[in-house]
Amino acid sequence: MTAAPLVKIDAETSTSAAKTSLAGLTRDGLKTALAAAGVPDKQLNMRVAQLWSWIYVRGLTSFDDMTDVSKDLRNRLGALYTLDRPEIVSEQVSIDGTRKWLLRLAKRGHEARPPEIETVYIPESDRGTLCISSQVGCTLTCSFCHTGTQRLVRNLEAEEIVAQIMLARDRIGDWPGAKGPDDGRLLPSSERKITNVVLMGMGEPLYNFDNVKAAMGVAADGDGLALSKRRITLSTSGVVPEIPRWGEEADTMLAISLHATNDALRDELVPINRKYPIAELMEACRNYPGLSNARRITFEYVMLKGVNDSLAEARALVKLLSGIPAKINLIPFNPWPNTRYECSDWETIERFAEVVNKAGYASPVRTPRGRDILAACGQLRSESARLSASERRAGAEKA
Ligand code: SAH
Ligand code: SF4
Repeated sequence: MTAAPLVKIDAETSTSAAKTSLAGLTRDGLKTALAAAGVPDKQLNMRVAQLWSWIYVRGLTSFDDMTDVSKDLRNRLGALYTLDRPEIVSEQVSIDGTRKWLLRLAKRGHEARPPEIETVYIPESDRGTLCISSQVGCTLTCSFCHTGTQRLVRNLEAEEIVAQIMLARDRIGDWPGAKGPDDGRLLPSSERKITNVVLMGMGEPLYNFDNVKAAMGVAADGDGLALSKRRITLSTSGVVPEIPRWGEEADTMLAISLHATNDALRDELVPINRKYPIAELMEACRNYPGLSNARRITFEYVMLKGVNDSLAEARALVKLLSGIPAKINLIPFNPWPNTRYECSDWETIERFAEVVNKAGYASPVRTPRGRDILAACGQLRSESARLSASERRAGAEKA
């Protein structure tokens, strides 16, 4: 077989001899890769199903272990492809068990250096949440967010988004210890460590709609990674036109980074508000497909000392959300170097939470996790590209 593999990422990868990884590909991507490896058309669906299971149910990292694939095909696959994950630049473990990985992605043609992203695993008694990135950096410049100080380097490919889940499963031992299709024990979903995925890492996922959607399709595929869509949450700063589309096409849970109850303040904190003000955002939320008391939207509200934490604002928040099946998540501000904000005092947070509680929203405060390793919400940032102070100001004005 002499034809070059035709998978999308290969065309965009640098001209180096590095082989393309199949880890993270969609079914279509895998099909293209197998066709390029010489698998005849009529065998393609069957081979895709075989590899899909090895890759996404077993988490294999070598073609050699695929016992129901002929040795000849395994060799051909091995000559053209790998099952490599992104390279781990660093892995940090917090005193609370939170883990953060800095990952280096494969460089693409035009890139001077390989981009880096962060992924965080947060273990809790009743669940394990993986917080994944959707972009390298972010085009938006929310004034309290560390990622917002970094320019957008690029969107992540679907496979780079899925690969974060696979890498985390590798590192925390969340694949079944299987030897073959019949003698291996499949982990029942109740024993899985990663039970929830949140798109709350670096980037604005609705600005990378197609790739994030394809990636969540792989994550929720019942014959593969099999995460429930009810346990996948996309968090957006409020890209209003994409919200109904996301609900219709991807149908995951939704979180909105609200952070303010009036436009003047939200314009400052979340500059995309200048384009899509609160009233439009609320309207999109009210109409989110599938919304019900069993499927509520989470509203995130970062607690910034003296900025948005008054009791009047707590009452305004409750009023703003009335009639929307909602959860409220008060996020204690997580500081990062040189930020101008401070986290509200605990007393203030408690009083704010009490108002929210009394209005019927249970346990609204999100416990900060992994702060000691800068893994908490809004602390993620890689050195892929920094924004200068003047670029930040220009970005805020543009939004
Ligand atoms: N771009 C998306 C998802 C990533 S941010 C969004 O903005 O929704 C995930 C959450 O962390 C958002 O609610 C964001 O506003 C919040 N966040 C950002 N910086 C923070 C910080 N320093 N402390 C606490 N939360 C922060
Ligand atoms: Fe981007 Fe979200 Fe950070 Fe705003 S809060 S800068 S949208 S990552």
